[in-house]
Amino acid sequence: MSSSASRTSTFLTIAGVTVLSGFLAYAVYFDYKRRNDADFRKKLRKDKKRVEKAATASSSTVDFTSGSRADVLKAEMAKIRAEPLPEGTREKEQYFMEQATLGEQLCTQGPAFAVSAAFAFFRALRVYPSPVELIMLYQSSLPPEVFAVILELTNLDVKERAEGYYDHFPPKSWNVRVQDKDGKKVLVADKDFEKGDVIYKEYPIVAALDWDLLEAGSHCAYCLKLVHKVSEYRPESDLLNTVYCSRDCYDKAKQQYHGILFTLDPLLPPDLDAEGVAADPEKRKAAQEALVAHLKSNKKLADFLVAKWVALQITIETSKVIPGSVSPAKDLPKYLDDDAPEYAIGDHLERLRFLGAEVKEEDTEILRNVFGTALPGLENSLTEDRHATTLGKMLYNAIGICYSGGRDDRPQFHERPEDQERTRTPYGTSHQVGSGLFLVSSYIQHSCEPSVRPSFTAGNHKLSLIATRAIAAGEELTMAYVDVAQHEGESAADARRRRRFELARGWRFKCECARCAAEDEGAGEADLGVTVDESKVEDAAARFEAKKAEAEAAETD
Ligand SMILES: [Zn+2]
Ligand SMILES: [Zn+2]
Repeated sequence: MSSSASRTSTFLTIAGVTVLSGFLAYAVYFDYKRRNDADFRKKLRKDKKRVEKAATASSSTVDFTSGSRADVLKAEMAKIRAEPLPEGTREKEQYFMEQATLGEQLCTQGPAFAVSAAFAFFRALRVYPSPVELIMLYQSSLPPEVFAVILELTNLDVKERAEGYYDHFPPKSWNVRVQDKDGKKVLVADKDFEKGDVIYKEYPIVAALDWDLLEAGSHCAYCLKLVHKVSEYRPESDLLNTVYCSRDCYDKAKQQYHGILFTLDPLLPPDLDAEGVAADPEKRKAAQEALVAHLKSNKKLADFLVAKWVALQITIETSKVIPGSVSPAKDLPKYLDDDAPEYAIGDHLERLRFLGAEVKEEDTEILRNVFGTALPGLENSLTEDRHATTLGKMLYNAIGICYSGGRDDRPQFHERPEDQERTRTPYGTSHQVGSGLFLVSSYIQHSCEPSVRPSFTAGNHKLSLIATRAIAAGEELTMAYVDVAQHEGESAADARRRRRFELARGWRFKCECARCAAEDEGAGEADLGVTVDESKVEDAAARFEAKKAEAEAAETD
């Protein structure tokens, strides 16, 4: 047996459900790590230098007759992107075998075929369960000139996906685009609007009903609509005792997150779990009960949103590997235009700002247990770090869902003001029926003199963004995160103080809007507890932004 044949067999190991769960955890977490883990990136850079040195020796024989090296790679990347990925585990496995074998064959034909070999290995990489490990394996087993090209392609892929994101998000039909302003991403109108116009409508990617309503069974746990006895749907054996306005809402909830979090339904069809490693129903039930107890005891919707979010990521990735299954993403908004490269839903969250948040180790463990007992290995979808960041994103971005002007019977807070959960809503969190993460609307910055308001006229979780005055194309859209009205018996100074405290507590910034400046009576202000904007962006997002700015500056020089 030749050495290249034995090399091939070392990475042709896709089989069995343990690898599959590894795949899912990777898709949810490790692809993220690939972009964010500083040590890993450092290692790649080091390898790249070493490999480039080795590759120079043979580069004279590599054929780039059809253009410069970068152009050839870019063109090939575009071609690879346009190729549909095989669906289903078996198809993926077969595709992987074909490409890896082709790569091996090309390798044996000498350095002149290094680039073609690398393209084949890169194609194989796209469907491999654990890309990071495969890259390591390539590095130790492939000729350096081939590995050098694979690294270049990988970097190009990550870079193009990162930098081109806002060219595709959101699609043109939303009438808005994301732009930079003072180091922040803001949402800008793409055309003129009259006062009262609906700019776009957006469904949340995850939403949660207030706990008192969930327990009362008065509202739909999925779409947050008031439930009518005639059409309501109450699932049997449901740990949460939830009620839905219709069977349709239940089916969606179950597919997206409810099934994995609160039912004992197997995640995989039986033929994919022939080894029977999934599901010890007793353990799984205990893990879910612990989660329900935890959610009920602290009653924070952000925690519930985090659990649903991670579950949704898993169910979407799972659907990709189950032949013939339908992705839960079909019921979610379409966030990208048609010619966008493939992004995971994690790519959307990664770009949102967040607040520093702390999670207890045992709280992370509760969630990890729920996933790990659904399918061993899935606990790796969440780390304590990632948990804290995700929670920080929900706390910073969630919008309060209030319809018909909001309700007045929400249970009073008993915590200190600084511990209360706040959601973005001009009606005040105390009037909401629940909250949700709206990926596009998350980019709308606060102003005490807003140009838009979220409206839930459908009486459910569907947000309509309404212009509160005429807006010109190119103008930034702003909404009020808190109740900015001056109420009866309240002076302008009192109202100013109240809203600025709420903003500082909920979103950790000192409002610098025009109205706040105009109403400043110069009397000095009580300490808001915050001096700078404390919201953060993740390293990966910040890094790519910095590089992009650098490149643009170089171009204009
Ligand atoms: Zn519903
Ligand atoms: Zn203000």
